[in-house]
Amino acid sequence: MAEFDSIIGHEVALGLLGTLLANDSLAHALLFCGSEGVGKATVAKLLAMALNCERRHLLPDKWRKEGLFPEHLPCKKCRTCRSIAAGNHPDVTVLDAEGKPIKIDQVRQLIAALSMKAFGAGNKVAVIDSAQFLTHEAANALLKILEEPPRDTVIILTASKVHELLPTIVSRCQQIRFGGVEVTTLSGWLARKVPGLDDRQAKVLAAMADGRPAKALELADRGIALRDGCLAATGLDSGTGPGHAGLSLMLAWAAETAANAETLSDKLSIIETWLRDLVVATIEPGLVINSDRKEDLLRLAGQADVNYLLDCFDSLLKVRRQLEAHANRRLALEVLGFRLAGIHAG
Ligand SMILES: [Zn+2]
Repeated sequence: MAEFDSIIGHEVALGLLGTLLANDSLAHALLFCGSEGVGKATVAKLLAMALNCERRHLLPDKWRKEGLFPEHLPCKKCRTCRSIAAGNHPDVTVLDAEGKPIKIDQVRQLIAALSMKAFGAGNKVAVIDSAQFLTHEAANALLKILEEPPRDTVIILTASKVHELLPTIVSRCQQIRFGGVEVTTLSGWLARKVPGLDDRQAKVLAAMADGRPAKALELADRGIALRDGCLAATGLDSGTGPGHAGLSLMLAWAAETAANAETLSDKLSIIETWLRDLVVATIEPGLVINSDRKEDLLRLAGQADVNYLLDCFDSLLKVRRQLEAHANRRLALEVLGFRLAGIHAG
């Protein structure tokens, strides 16, 4: 059950779910929204456990009403909890898109599973992870069951961006928002979780992960190397100071970065954080994020021109917008490369 160690932060979302459970006012359809990797699916599974845990049902109603079990967390130890965690409880169905479209047949199977009599004494739960991948037909099929859900069923949808779902689906769900986990909490958790990671590196990785535990873990074994490689490739940590990298170096960096879509966003975050640190280092060195490279930052901060830094921030923002609009990746990155090389728009 290692994945449930991953629930950190989310006090607001968990508190809200606990209160809804305690008041018996949990809706039959829920929508968990928040960034990718923030922990929505993990909490969805935890809620499925809470709705079915054998020990929770043994608690007298009076105890629950008097708040003697205020957390309403599942025990995670009973047979039901364990089989839900392992993904093989007959009353809990999880549809995970894994980046592919969720088709109407999958939704029909899910509806059929929800319509059958429950195996245990708890609730039937269906989780649709990354519901933005529902095809139009699949979403319409789902609408019907959201309108008239069978008794004792809870359907949980997760999505990173609510506007990517049909408004008719959103309006039928109780929304629970998941914010990012605060950097200090996330870095402490990461340092405990990853052997050999020192506190300063954990802090850098937590900042790079932007509050997302799953992302922080993914970065743990390669994040520091990725950062150092990216800074060297852009000349942002070179002895001559930021803004003096040659044009050919920047064009090569743009081409290489454009060709590796999976690390592109991470590299933009790395550059953004580094430039931010160059500003912060001159004012309050204790607040730099790349604290394991504080000496380099202090040395370079004095060499970086403020207008250059502002130009770069502006360009980073534009690149992110262009990439979201599916503009030509390499062209967008080349323009950023020019700015990082100190070539101004004029
Ligand atoms: Zn249990």
